Amino acid sequence: MANLSPPPGKTFVVEHLDPELEAWSSLEYYTIASECHNSGAKFLLSSVPKSLKLPANLQHVQGLTVETRGIEDIYTDKKDRVCLLDPAASQDLSPEDGETFEIFLFGGILGDDPPRDRTSELRKKGYQGRRLGPVQMTTDTAVRVTRIVVQDKVAVEQVPYIDHPELKINKNESTQMPFRYVKGNDGRPIMPDGMLDLIKKDSEKSLDDLF
Ligand code: SAM
Repeated sequence: MANLSPPPGKTFVVEHLDPELEAWSSLEYYTIASECHNSGAKFLLSSVPKSLKLPANLQHVQGLTVETRGIEDIYTDKKDRVCLLDPAASQDLSPEDGETFEIFLFGGILGDDPPRDRTSELRKKGYQGRRLGPVQMTTDTAVRVTRIVVQDKVAVEQVPYIDHPELKINKNESTQMPFRYVKGNDGRPIMPDGMLDLIKKDSEKSLDDLF
């Protein structure tokens, strides 16, 4: 009889590249873990310094595996099955890449404006690279879009996006996010739970610093 079990899910690896793990990253990683868990994929947070104490929200999350080793030590014999999601790659990710690659690698870096190309730290390890279109995404958005492309087989340019949304901080002020997000069913950018409050808090702090 034919074996009808579904093919094993993909593995999404975020290589943490910062010495600290800030509140923004912890919200992003929590969201990536939950979404991967719900879609049958694995999420590995690699290169987490031994000395780093994980924030409370990441201590007991279903779907999250934390590794102190880096990507090269974890997948020594699978280099050709790893795809680096790289804003500077010459080829965009396609649904067919889901057949070629098993492991999708992302930089665990907070977005910056203008982008500082810290993904180059992973590029120099020599993995094959794919781009997710021309606009910088947050790490959780990049993982979400990759899942949609390789697991749901939707072309990268067919995913509904919202670029550079304007978020209201209070009655008088708003702030523009320099990133691309996936558009949710409610027409708003998909962001981790708690992110909007954190952005508001951080923006109010920087507004206060101006006075
Ligand atoms: N400013 C950045 C840098 O220094 O490279 C981009 C960091 S981005 C917030 C975090 C990760 O998401 C990147 O390392 C990359 O893996 C992925 N990413 C974000 N936007 C992407 C895009 N348009 N194409 C491919 N990967 C992307």
